[in-house]
Formats: sequence, C-alpha cells, structure tokens
Amino acid sequence: MTAIHILKEREKQIYEKGSQPFDLTCDKHSIAGSISQRACVFCGSRVVLYPIADALHLVHGPIGCAAYTWDIRGALSSGPQLHRFSFSTDLKEKDVIFGGEKKLYQALNTLIDTYSPKAAFVYATCIVGIIGDDVDSICKKMSKEKGIPVLPVHSEGFKGTKKDGYKAACEALFKLVGQGSINHDSETSKFRINILGEFNIGGEAWIIKNYYEKIGVQVVSVMTGDSRIDDIKSAHEASLNVVQCSGSMTTLAKMMKEKYDIPFIRVSYFGIEDVSKALYDVSAHFKDNPQILENTKKLVSSEIQNIYPELQKIKKALFGKKAAIYVGGAFKAFSLIKALRLIGMDVVLVGSQTGDQDDYKMLKELCDDGTVIVDDANPLELSKYIVEKKADLVIGGVKERPIAYKMGIGFCDHNHERKIPLAGFIGMLNFAKEVYATVMSPVWKFAPRHL
Ligand code: SF4
Repeated sequence: MTAIHILKEREKQIYEKGSQPFDLTCDKHSIAGSISQRACVFCGSRVVLYPIADALHLVHGPIGCAAYTWDIRGALSSGPQLHRFSFSTDLKEKDVIFGGEKKLYQALNTLIDTYSPKAAFVYATCIVGIIGDDVDSICKKMSKEKGIPVLPVHSEGFKGTKKDGYKAACEALFKLVGQGSINHDSETSKFRINILGEFNIGGEAWIIKNYYEKIGVQVVSVMTGDSRIDDIKSAHEASLNVVQCSGSMTTLAKMMKEKYDIPFIRVSYFGIEDVSKALYDVSAHFKDNPQILENTKKLVSSEIQNIYPELQKIKKALFGKKAAIYVGGAFKAFSLIKALRLIGMDVVLVGSQTGDQDDYKMLKELCDDGTVIVDDANPLELSKYIVEKKADLVIGGVKERPIAYKMGIGFCDHNHERKIPLAGFIGMLNFAKEVYATVMSPVWKFAPRHL
C-alpha cells in the first residue's frame, strides 16, 4: 500500500472488483478542492463542435477560456481550416462591470464579414453567465443581419459537468438539422446513415466513412469530424444514426429520434471486435439489402487478415504487462479493455470523467478481479493506483500524460490531441504499435520507476 490517501468524500466513487459489493456513486459534481481531471462545461461544448470546419467559433469570455481550447483537437479537415482559430471577445474588467454585449456584437460583425462562415457558434463562458449578457438576442440579431445561423452555445463553465457542455453542443447542432437537403440529383442511396460522435482525429472519420462506402452505405453527415454546416442541415434525411462517442452525442440522437423518427445504435470503432460489430450492426439495420451484409463479411475478413500477424508478434512482447485507462467517456474504455486483451495486456485501473451507472456496471462485468474502477478521478488517485497496481502503461489524454512520465512508465494518448488514427482496423494496429513502442522503450532504463 502507498501513503497516498483518498479524500473521504471521494471514497464512494472508487471501487475495486472482487473486494466489496458494487455500489459506485457517479454522475455528480466534482468535489471542490479535489483537483478533478474533468474539463468544464464550456470545454465539453467546445470539443464537440470544434471540428466543424466551415463555421466560426467565437468564445465569449476572457482570453484564458479561448487559449485553453485553442486548436484543442487533432481533428483534420479536408477543406476549410476556420475551426482552428480560437476567436475570443477577450472580456476584461470594464466589460464585466458594464456588460460585454456590445463587444460580442462588434466581434461577430467583423468576423463574419472577414471570414464568410456558413454558421457561427457563440460559446458563453463562466463570466458571461455571471454578468448576464443576453447572448441569445445578439445571436438572433446577427443571424438576421448576416443571413447565416448564429447559434448561442450555453456552456457557462460552472453550471454543471462536462456532460452539460455536450448537451449544450447537441442543442446547438439540433437547431441546424432539418434546414437543408442532400442533393437528390446526384446518385444517392436509400441506405443512409449519420455518424455521430466521431471527430476525425488523425483522419479517423475518413477511415470509417470509407468502410461504410465499401459496404454500400451512404454517410449523410459526420458529427462533427471534418463536417460542414450543409451536411449537418441535411442529417434528417438519414435513416439511422450511428453513435460512437455516446456520452457526447446520445442527446442529439434522442432529439432526432423524437422529431424525425430516426433510430440510433451505439457503436465503437476502437479494436477489432468493436469495429467489426459496428459494421455488422449497421448491415443488420439494412437487412432489406443482403448485399450490404455480404460486403461487410468480405471487408471485415480481409481487414483482419491484413493486421492479425503483426498483432500476434506484438502480443508476444507485451504479454502480462499492466495498463491503466483514464478516459472521458466510459464507452471508449470498454473497447480499450478488449483491445488491450487482444495484445496480451491486463487492465488494472480504469476510470472515466463522465460515465453513468450503466457504464460502470458494464465496466465491472468486463474487468478482472482486482481492477480498480474510478469515477471523476484526480491525479493523486490515479497515481495511488498506478503505484499499487504496478501499471506499465497509462492510456489517457493530455492531463494524464505527465502523471505517467513522472512515474517512469509508458503513455498512450487516446484523447482528442493525438495525431495518429486509432479507429478502425488500421487504427487497432497503430494502437498496438504505439503501446509496444512506449511500454518497451529503452528510455525507461534511464527514468527510474516510482512504483
Ligand atoms: S468557462 Fe469557466 S471554467 Fe471553463 S475555462 Fe472559462 S473560466 Fe475556466
């Protein structure tokens, strides 16, 4: 045991499988002073909407909020790069006293004239919620004057958890859906889907889109990887929503089910097992066309054949090594546990920022005895269990990277900052290679482990 202690108020959000009855508390606000790994509400909205490449993204708040989320994702665009700017109204003390509405109006006016975006998202941050600027009415006015959708995103940082930010982003997207139509003059299939919760990190949406095209399914829109406002406006013409990052996009899928009667399924594109299942689940939805299932079988078998021999070599080297996982949404953790098993590794710690009861129950089923499950962790808790469980690898994002390196163990970035695609079959191989490179790196001989 280590000398690292857990805060009393946090104990119910940590569970070790096999040592106690399952009673994990989750879905609550972070405890003040616990230094949660979670991002704020605004960041939740920003990461969901960021990849929309032909939209203007204006952060209404102090410059720090914009700097915090500037070019935050490795989300690629095949065309415009407008999303990569982090425009801000740069609110200062005077604006806090006298209000920032005038500044917001002027910023939107100048930016829309300069960049001619297809739409604009205006993010309300903490201070805007406190001073009470009427963001909605400025957006409405600007929308009328400029003839494009100008959408307020109510993401005041303090008003909840990162999940509330996802919800605010979904509400903004929902206002666009139904405003357009796909080009029916060009060749369109009647087997149409939207991909929700796929952000084209390192080109992942392109890999996944390509699979769907190969099996005979048309992708109307990807939300929001490499996405365009016009595609989002036509999303109601799809007959199925395929939701990957379910934590962020289930709200939108539910709204589209209610208004447009479009069913949705939850999938994951990480790991051989889950990406295969995602393709088979979509082909099962279009069972009227048996050719789609045939195409899927062919695609899955040829893709697995291409990567399997190399995965087996990596598995030999990594067999018995231990991994700690800390990610945003728990659904990704399910896939990671399976993907790590495929390359011979054991998961000793797994946690998420935004998991709910069902997610954690599922995690408990998937994990081996002795695995620690943690909701809304902080750096000390992660360090404690990395030490106690003798992990060789941490899988997480930018905030978990320094924890791993300070402990002298490997790290794999599976968050939105990464540049290498980890989705799809090729992504599984990239993942295995990255894990191998970091766990087996000779650098650890010179960086003693603090385990
Ligand atoms: S919205 Fe609030 S919590 Fe989020 S970055 Fe800005 S000031 Fe910080």
